Amino acid sequence: MLKLHNTLTNQLEEFKPINPAHITMYVCGPTVYDRPHIGNGRPAIVFDVLYRLLKHLYPKVTYARNITDIDDKIYKKSVDLGVSIEDVTSKATEHYHRNLEQLGIMHVDVEPKATENIAGMIEMISALLDAGKAYISNNHVYFDSSSYEHYGILSNKKTEDQQAGARVAVSDDKESQNDFVLWKPISDDFNIGWDSPWGVGRPGWHIECSVMSKRFLGDQIDIHGGGSDLIFPHHENENAQSCAISGKKSFANYWVHNGHINMSGEKMSKSIGNTIYLDDLMDKYSGPDVKFAVLSTHYASPINWSDALLQNAHNVLAKWWGRVSRYDLCVDSGYVDQEVVEALANDINSPGAFTVMHKLFNDVSDASSASRFYNTCINLFGLEIDKCVKQSTIDVDEAWVDDMISRRNKAKLDKDYATADAIRKQLSDSGIVLEDGIEGTTWSVK
Ligand SMILES: [Zn+2]
Repeated sequence: MLKLHNTLTNQLEEFKPINPAHITMYVCGPTVYDRPHIGNGRPAIVFDVLYRLLKHLYPKVTYARNITDIDDKIYKKSVDLGVSIEDVTSKATEHYHRNLEQLGIMHVDVEPKATENIAGMIEMISALLDAGKAYISNNHVYFDSSSYEHYGILSNKKTEDQQAGARVAVSDDKESQNDFVLWKPISDDFNIGWDSPWGVGRPGWHIECSVMSKRFLGDQIDIHGGGSDLIFPHHENENAQSCAISGKKSFANYWVHNGHINMSGEKMSKSIGNTIYLDDLMDKYSGPDVKFAVLSTHYASPINWSDALLQNAHNVLAKWWGRVSRYDLCVDSGYVDQEVVEALANDINSPGAFTVMHKLFNDVSDASSASRFYNTCINLFGLEIDKCVKQSTIDVDEAWVDDMISRRNKAKLDKDYATADAIRKQLSDSGIVLEDGIEGTTWSVK
């Protein structure tokens, strides 16, 4: 049984799908203008594990994660670099995909781009205007937050004007503090826009996700995910405008949010300048090392990021692969250990699931137990442990290497060269190189 902590109710709840035959999940993707950082990596990793778990538990899952390719930061970059907008967004998107691939993250089922869904946004904004849930002011279209009675349901924000039940003029354009832009006119800074009934302009950020999740997953979805920094205003506003049309309380039944990343006790943010880019991490460590480091903290908690966390992740995976790789592994894309599934199904408790993995690892003693361990690693976490030794030294079990060398020596004495060669190859596959000299055989790590 899957349980998830639902931001909507602030409670751990049993997951009850709308349709058990087809689960729907939407996660907010990156704004594509720069190299991806660990703050982009964490939701991709967390929701990849949830996706894998859902796919194991249910026959069909559709996972949509968008690309935000409309943003001033994109336009500024294109001006700064003297390249086209398309150049900035396509390069950043490719970069994001490349990093996700290194991290062993599965492809999502749908990856819509905001720029390809402008017509849908215009349609939803028109519907909101027609229904009297939005208004035009100074060439902008605003959502009227008072038209959705549950405004604040996700973030628990009750503003003063809502509490007082009165309207407070907070700016020349907006009627209320919580009202937000659905469509804005072309700006003086960047001459970029699309035709609309309200003139050439562009959509607000929140309307993008409402439209894309509705288009690809339907009016009511099972799970909506993202980083906790998106709860307000992004998700609150997404939900308000979607529900203003559907009449529902929430358009997602479960809102799941991952915690942020701390660097030396300070929240990681671009404004502080303590951002960690995935490229820099993966120059030094492998993708599986980074993924394990992220998953060793429960998704809802902040991660205190450090080198020690990565080193520990690397040591664990190198130890795992060091032993598992000694056996002839039988790859089975359908196998996962049930006890690990149960641990993970308790609100994506990856640290708890790793505790079970450690126990399973201690029981690895033959090809069959090694294969079960390996398949669980790959299928449930996407932890490609065979890649963890890529750039650093492997954890060598010296007694095992010595034993293999004496078996090889015996085979050579028996003129069983096939066995001797097979042992050399097995060692080589584990990163050990042999050298035969007058004094005997010596070994070193590749
Ligand atoms: Zn979003």
